[in-house]
Amino acid sequence: MSKRLASYDPSNGELLGDVQVTTKERLSVMVAQAHVAAANWRNLDAVVRGTILEMAYVCLEPHVKELAELLSREMGKDLHRATGEVGNVVYGGAYIARGAIEALRARDLGGGSLVEYAPLGVVAVISPWNYPLAMANNLILPALVAGNTVIFKPSEETPLIAERFIECLNKVLPEHVLQVVYGDSEQGKALVESNVQLIAFTGSQAAGKDIMARASGQLKRLVMELGGNDPMIVLQDANIEAAARFAVASSFENAGQMCTSTERIYVDHRIAGRFEKRVVELATEYKVGPWDMADVNIGPIINADQHSKIIEHILDAETKGARVLLGGSQQPERYIKPTVICDMTPTMRMEQEETFGPVVSISRVTSITEAIARANNSSYGLGAVVFGGTEAEAVAAQLEAGMIGINQGPGGAGDAPWVGAKQSGFGFHGSPDGHRQFAQVRVVSRQTN
Ligand code: NAD
Repeated sequence: MSKRLASYDPSNGELLGDVQVTTKERLSVMVAQAHVAAANWRNLDAVVRGTILEMAYVCLEPHVKELAELLSREMGKDLHRATGEVGNVVYGGAYIARGAIEALRARDLGGGSLVEYAPLGVVAVISPWNYPLAMANNLILPALVAGNTVIFKPSEETPLIAERFIECLNKVLPEHVLQVVYGDSEQGKALVESNVQLIAFTGSQAAGKDIMARASGQLKRLVMELGGNDPMIVLQDANIEAAARFAVASSFENAGQMCTSTERIYVDHRIAGRFEKRVVELATEYKVGPWDMADVNIGPIINADQHSKIIEHILDAETKGARVLLGGSQQPERYIKPTVICDMTPTMRMEQEETFGPVVSISRVTSITEAIARANNSSYGLGAVVFGGTEAEAVAAQLEAGMIGINQGPGGAGDAPWVGAKQSGFGFHGSPDGHRQFAQVRVVSRQTN
């Protein structure tokens, strides 16, 4: 009998439904079908492909409410945030499609030379659970506009929202242009090793490294958006109120389960007391609970392993001498109450690893040099933030990250690339440069016969 993949509500463990795990045999058939479909799909004009995709996104519009509720139940984020995520995907689809069409237009270099952006073939899209629609969509849509067909493997934590999303899109898309594989890392590995030409992955650093190793035999193309351990520096002349508000909001967003959430804060010792006090006041206002409870802003943690990991990180900090100002390692099942910890040191796990939970972790530093050194002392380099006045720009220039925020969060205007430095990324998406990573660049030069 074929295996089933069950999906549970993380707030109470209730079974929400299940899907059939994709077997190796079935995956081989799907990949072959994707190649057949690619032959037709790539021959359509990019504008026609874009128009078909826009129509598919219009067909999602009546389903926004239903998709948002399912996303909330399956992933745990509150309905307001889930509606925002679904809305961005559905109503932003046309914008991404048009941007990709523009970015992928051939460029005339003069003298008979053209730069073209040709489809690669079949693209594997592998995505995480924390923004189950947005992360998948950021990779699926440009890959399809570029003339590739896609085989999508959603996270094992959120198969139902993926199933419903793909079902809606496939009412419009030609057959086998977009297919879905269900399972965990086993099915992910099988997909990586199958006859795909690009692997577009969003997820953890560890899985990214494994994918890179498996892809190396055939030098498969990679777009990898990996984890983060984002630092925030608060300089002596920072606006303490603005910095504290950002620190709390960013550390707690999506219950801390966000790749660019603030994970480590380095604050000038001369303002540290006032900053910590305000952080605690703000953090106390956050309410923990299930997605359908009023005014909730911290939902459940996705699963028991992730819940244990967060507690282990807090416990490790407590044991090594950190001061807990709010919350701590004693936590209820399924949830982590807002936690604020200070006097962090470089040997603590929270300083070195991605915690991915609603924890504000603060270190006092005595110089800007120390703050920058601690901020950069990480294999990660996704986002980084500095709050301050006269020296903020100079500090920002020294931060090793793909996305830097000065007195604001990382990640820029609508069409900015979403990009990591160091071991937080390899390739990227978003923006014209990002869209082009889903295509093979070809230079065609000609002279008259
Ligand atoms: P994960 O790496 O465990 O899993 C992500 C996906 O990859 C899942 O679909 C999983 O089944 C699959 N997978 C796992 N191991 C694999 C392997 N060896 N080969 C192929 N597929 C494999 O990550 P997660 O727990 O789902 O998500 C959280 C992580 O994602 C965090 O590290 C977070 O920072 C990161 N993330 C990064 C971004 C970004 O834009 N940089 C965005 C969201 C999440």
